[in-house]
Amino acid sequence: MTPPPGLDRRLFLALGVGSAAATGIVGPVWANPRFGSDPFAVGVASGEPRTDAVVIWTRLAPDPGALDGSGGMPDRRVPVSWQVAEDEQLRRVVRSGATVTSAEVGHSVHVDVTGLQPGREYFYRFRVGQDVSPVGRTKTMAAGTGTRDMTFAFASCQSYSNGYFSGYPHMVADDPDVVFFLGDYIYRQPGLVTPGGGHLVERQNAPQHSCETLADFRLRYAHYRTDPQLAEAHRLLPWVVTIDDNEIDNNWFSTDPDPARVARRIVGMQAFWENMPLLPSSRPVGWQLPVAYRRLSYGDLVDFHVITTRHFRQESPSGECAVEDRDGGFCPPALDPDRTILGDQQERWLHDGLRTSTAQWNVLANQVFFTMRDKNKNAKPDKDVNLAAWDGFVADRQAILDLLAAEHIRNFVVITGDSHRNWVANTPPTYRDWDTGAPPIATEFLVTSINSGGERVPNPTYGPAKQSTPHLLYRDNSHGYALATVDRDQLRIDYRAVSTVLSPAATIETISSWTVADDQPGAVAL
Ligand code: FE
Ligand code: CA
Repeated sequence: MTPPPGLDRRLFLALGVGSAAATGIVGPVWANPRFGSDPFAVGVASGEPRTDAVVIWTRLAPDPGALDGSGGMPDRRVPVSWQVAEDEQLRRVVRSGATVTSAEVGHSVHVDVTGLQPGREYFYRFRVGQDVSPVGRTKTMAAGTGTRDMTFAFASCQSYSNGYFSGYPHMVADDPDVVFFLGDYIYRQPGLVTPGGGHLVERQNAPQHSCETLADFRLRYAHYRTDPQLAEAHRLLPWVVTIDDNEIDNNWFSTDPDPARVARRIVGMQAFWENMPLLPSSRPVGWQLPVAYRRLSYGDLVDFHVITTRHFRQESPSGECAVEDRDGGFCPPALDPDRTILGDQQERWLHDGLRTSTAQWNVLANQVFFTMRDKNKNAKPDKDVNLAAWDGFVADRQAILDLLAAEHIRNFVVITGDSHRNWVANTPPTYRDWDTGAPPIATEFLVTSINSGGERVPNPTYGPAKQSTPHLLYRDNSHGYALATVDRDQLRIDYRAVSTVLSPAATIETISSWTVADDQPGAVAL
């Protein structure tokens, strides 16, 4: 294994990623593994549902709090077997197999189970030695034409020390066909518990410092999964996970050459893959995920275009320029046609996918604010846009919007995380249409954080109420998730808000509901 450009080979090997492969050390398989406690303490998960396949996942970690990130596993190769069945008692097993895991992959197990039926519920479990995992439950995507309806949930941003992940039991009860997690699954920082800091004393993070090494990141993920509400949501629903910045580094970008941050990207990405129900083939190469962007379809009803706005993005541009140099409120660097948030290859893939889609709805699973937003609190003479979001990369966004118009691509809906707020945005057709009354060409629904930011006094009516941004229809500061219900005629969003993140026993309430009608971009409040 060779280090990525710009990274010293010794430092690379010291990270411990792929070191066994590099040195050729492969130990014998542990024939009769025995553990002092449950090796499935961090649970099971499924993800990447397709019409005929789904990934099932686990990670052997009898001691999830082990400070060396090992999960309490010895540095040995361990055989793990698995079964997938049609029934919860696993009497009607339809697929089974065995694999070997090792310390090199944090004793994680990723199995891409193929040969399944579309639109079906399945159950699965793992076995290691005498220990059997909890039974997981998953679903495949529907296939064929005439698919009538489906539901999906989306969420983002969870900080262990900010409180409980109290929305998840309600998400499970809502029983969506699939869950999209749009980034900030962990935070690299521990979220120090400080007086008045919005953190819960009983929710101390592990490790209690910012993650630097692979061991740190492995421990962070294992610690999160000891949260029973998070673990149950993984056990009972299939997830499609994407990465944003805080799994690695605040506002990281791919062209940053700083060796320490490159090193962190490598270990952060390795731990992300190890701990998520991602494809086995997406095991990181350096810090790149081989399957960072992908398309998942639910019959002919929805094409989900799952993108990454981190792996290929350039640095955010400067927002400083003279007022007379601004165009639509943007300084020239933000409008530079060569500046990219998607990268050329992903952009071509997305455009091709949109152009050739035959689905009723095209949903972009996205990480950061897509629609333009003016943060100006009247202190500046012109717009104050968020250059860390798509507003810093106007050309990439405009190319998508132009494509929607030119090719009459129907029903383009963006779902987004990151902002720790719920927002509804009617995306104008160009970056100059701040307040021109031009009809929207797309619709964006941003979901708040699971709990990042900590407990809040609910305020469903504040902001934006700015004359410059009539296309921003709604803003709310609750915690929770969003639930989408899709049929041939409409896509409906229900914002689901928890009563508290100070306790796992929160109640849930739909605080706002919106629909997008077929062939009519823009959200309508219910
Ligand atoms: Fe966040
Ligand atoms: Ca983020």
